This record gives sequence, structure tokens and C-alpha cells, in this order.
Amino acid sequence: MHGRARDPARQDEVFFGPFRRMLRASLAAPLENAQWTGITTRIAELLLEKGAVDAVLTMAPDPQDRWRPVPVLVTKAQDMAQCRGMRMGYAPLLALLDPARERGYKRLAIIGIPCQVYALRALEKELGFERLYVIGTPCSDNTTTERFHEFLALLSDRPETISYLEFRADYHVEIRFLDGRKKLVPFLQLPISKLPQDFFPLTCRTCVDYTNVLADITVGYMGGQGEQWLIVRNERGEELLDLLGDEVRLSEPGSAGKRAGPVKGFLANVERAAGGLPLRAMPNWLRPIVGWLMPRIGPRGLEFARARVEMKAVETVLHLRRQVPRRMRNMIPAHVWDLVRPYGLTPKDGEQAREGSDKSKSP
Ligand SMILES: Cc1cc2nc3c(=O)[nH]c(=O)nc-3n(C[C@H](O)[C@H](O)[C@H](O)COP(=O)(O)OP(=O)(O)OC[C@H]3O[C@@H](n4cnc5c(N)ncnc54)[C@H](O)[C@@H]3O)c2cc1C
Repeated sequence: MHGRARDPARQDEVFFGPFRRMLRASLAAPLENAQWTGITTRIAELLLEKGAVDAVLTMAPDPQDRWRPVPVLVTKAQDMAQCRGMRMGYAPLLALLDPARERGYKRLAIIGIPCQVYALRALEKELGFERLYVIGTPCSDNTTTERFHEFLALLSDRPETISYLEFRADYHVEIRFLDGRKKLVPFLQLPISKLPQDFFPLTCRTCVDYTNVLADITVGYMGGQGEQWLIVRNERGEELLDLLGDEVRLSEPGSAGKRAGPVKGFLANVERAAGGLPLRAMPNWLRPIVGWLMPRIGPRGLEFARARVEMKAVETVLHLRRQVPRRMRNMIPAHVWDLVRPYGLTPKDGEQAREGSDKSKSP
């Protein structure tokens, strides 16, 4: 779909996949209840408004539980508003592809996280849509909605009043409540150690597609330093961005700080955890100081995004090596080994697909 694989001469493609350009972006008039400014929703609305697609396949909240994603086919632009925001959980997005065809939809847009888009691309040819637009968001980890509720219960005495949650790129979790209150919690103060080891499933902990490499455009925030972060990957992605016209403010993404230290620290902790040892806890008195320092001197902008992609790569290698080593040769693409090599992780015998075999090629 991009006409080429990652170009190792463009260093950032090793991290983020093939792209034409990356941008920092915000809607000039942010959409209410969107996860960030609502670029994802607005692109889909415009596709429907202009009649470029028959339907948009995306997730709406379950009427009984706002955190539970439910797949929906949206055909009216105004109905996209109900889908805004991030919900934690798995839901069978692609199960609505057949119903979409049965209803005679020929031009479709899909909003999906990487694992959904990966499966979609594998099916794309046989689905036979005349036109397919793929708006992807990054995804670091997902879990069941039930598990996510357990996490919310650790954050508040009244978890049912939490209406929004985001792991921001400035090392804080932002929590919003139904009454309009807002709370920022530094990552270091999160009750992560109270979560069970399998809070995130092995599939997420070994996912090598954080940035949704197979989407036409990826709409995230990680490299955006407080704004959104767009990765325009192909001609169709350009077309989607063009739809926004003056509604979107664009600028060059920034990059600051150095990722090597935090990634090394992360690796040491994952090694301890994978070996069944407790995480090396930082003394409580030091947490607020480091929490204050990280947004100021830690990796920021694209460097933050590179750090997170490297951390995911480290997790992939260490967790697979410990739990299902026989899967490594098929599940670890060559570029992931390039990402972890600077941290001393190299493939052992049998861990890498043979040169020239299809499985060794990165998307
Ligand atoms: C589980 C998860 C983890 C994420 N992790 C990261 C991350 O680490 N870094 C990063 O930059 N971005 C991440 N994102 C994406 C981020 O939360 C925003 O969705 C994205 O930045 C777009 O913001 P927006 O304001 O344009 O979205 P909006 O306009 O508010 O639209 C959000 C869209 O996402 C869809 N959606 C919501 N929940 C799900 C779900 N569970 N599965 C599939 N689609 C869903 C909605 O239906 C809606 O169409 C993650 C998203 C999810 C669902």
C-alpha cells in the first residue's frame, strides 16, 4: 500500500515505518469529547460530508459502559460525534466488513488500531471494495475493558466518574471527571506495580507495530509535544490530510533530549520483571523530583516517540525470549533487531528468520 518498505537511509522510517511526511497538528477548533483535538473524527466526517465514502467503520461506546468499544458502521457525518474519544478494550471491528458489503457499500473508511489494520490489509484484496481509506491511530497496549476498570479503581475512589484518560507525552496521565474536574498524575506516581503481570496480554507486550505502519495516515500524539502527530504515509494519506484544509494547523515536529538513558533503564526493569523479580522501585522521596525533571530534560517530541518504539521493541524481544522463544523467528521483523542492537540485544541462534525468507521482511 505504500509501494515500498522502510528505507533504512531515512533513519526515522526504521522507527515509524514508511512515510512521506510527519507533522505536528491541531484542529483550529478542537472537537468536544475528542481524545485530542479530534483530527481522526473530522477526517471521517469530511469523507462522509463530501460523499467520498458510503460508510465509516469505527468504534462507538457501549451504551451501558462508556469504556467498552463496540464496532459501528457510520453513514451520516453527524453520527461520528458519538465515536469520539479513546476506549480501552478489544472489539471485533472487522466483523462488520461483511455486513458492509451486504449493505452494498463499495467505498469505505476505517479507523483502527494497528492489529485491526494489519488484519484488514491481509483481507483487503478479497474484500473487493472500490475504495478503502485507512485512518490509523498508534497503540501502545490494550487490555480488556474489565481490566481497565480495575486500573480506574486504583486511580479514584469513584472510578465510575472518570470520563477521560490519556497517557500524555509529557510523562503525565490526564484524568477527567464527569463534573469537569481534571487531574494530572506523573507516570512515576501511577499504581503500576499494583497491576497484575498479565494486565496487558502477551500479544500487546510483543507487538511490533506501535505506529500503525500499514495505515494511509496515522493520527497520534506521541511525537506531538502536546499537540497531535500525523504520519502521512502515501498518496491516499495526503488526500485525507488535504480534506482538512484550513481547519488544521500544521508545523514541523520538534525533537529534544536523549532517549538512550530512559530506554536502558526500561530494559533493566523489563529484564527483572521477565525474570520474576520485583521492579527496582525508586525511593518515594525521589519520585516527585524525577517526575518534575522528566518533562523538562527527558526525551521530547520525536525523540519521545523513538524512545517508546524502542521500549516496545525491547519488550518484544525479552518477553518472547522468556515465554515463547520458538515464535521469535516469525514474530520479530529485521528492523526490530536494528532498534534493540544499540542496547546489547542481538539475535541468538534460531531467533531470527533466515535471510531471504518472507518472514524476515518488515512491512
Ligand atoms: C488502546 C489505545 C491505545 C492508544 N495508545 C496510543 C499511544 O500510545 N500513542 C499515541 O500517540 N496514540 C495512542 N492511541 C491513539 C490516541 O488515543 C488517539 O485516538 C489519537 O491520538 C487520535 O486522537 P483524536 O483526537 O484525533 O481522536 P478522536 O477524534 O477522538 O477519535 C478517536 C477514534 O478512535 C476510535 N477508538 C477509540 N477506542 C478504540 C479502540 N479501543 N479500538 C479501536 N478504535 C478506537 C474511536 O472510535 C474514534 O473514531 C491509542 C488508542 C487506543 C484505542
